[in-house]
Amino acid sequence: MIDQAANSTAYLGIGSNLGDRLATMRAAVLALHTHPSIQLEPNACAASLYESTPVGVASEQRVYYNSTIRVATTLAPYQLLDAVLAIENALGRVRREPMGSRTIDLDLLLYDDLVINDETLTVPHPRMHLRRFVLEPLAEIAGSAVHPTCGATIAELAGRTAGQEFESIHRVMDARWVTSGIARPGQGESPPFAPMPGCCEEVR
Ligand code: AMP
Repeated sequence: MIDQAANSTAYLGIGSNLGDRLATMRAAVLALHTHPSIQLEPNACAASLYESTPVGVASEQRVYYNSTIRVATTLAPYQLLDAVLAIENALGRVRREPMGSRTIDLDLLLYDDLVINDETLTVPHPRMHLRRFVLEPLAEIAGSAVHPTCGATIAELAGRTAGQEFESIHRVMDARWVTSGIARPGQGESPPFAPMPGCCEEVR
């Protein structure tokens, strides 16, 4: 149940290409879930998990796991950015070089229909409308949302970038990547939220 006071919706990009990628991404989702001012909608907050080749990087890098998450929050955009940066730091994110490999990357993609562009925060995220690894997962959970500066829906933007050959992405797991492998109640740690029948089709 989303708290009544949680009146803003934000979409986050989440990715990792260092260490145990899936475990770190799950830990980030759990950290979001336990934040007192962030709510994850039970059952329907996450897109599938994708694997993608690194784009725009100079050095050889391992492939990424990517997904997107919807949150409801009472945090203002800058507070939400601070919260996700704190989660990145807590999970051992080290910034050695721009566009370098990362244990965890959390990006604020959309915050309601706000447009912000200053030295601290750019929303919508400045490259999200160009990247398949953002748009394909985001289209699963926000296909009809309109990108506030492009004026196109996320599904339309995903369609425009679908044939982009410099980016190779494929879906590796349905939305249960968030919970599968996490112990059930009574068997240790509880899952952050339970998958809902119908929202998680099997990957074929
Ligand atoms: P990175 O983790 O490499 O994506 O960069 C994080 C830095 O980018 C932070 O210091 C933010 O101030 C800045 N930034 C600007 N806009 C965004 C955004 N929409 N999402 C995440 N970080 C952003």
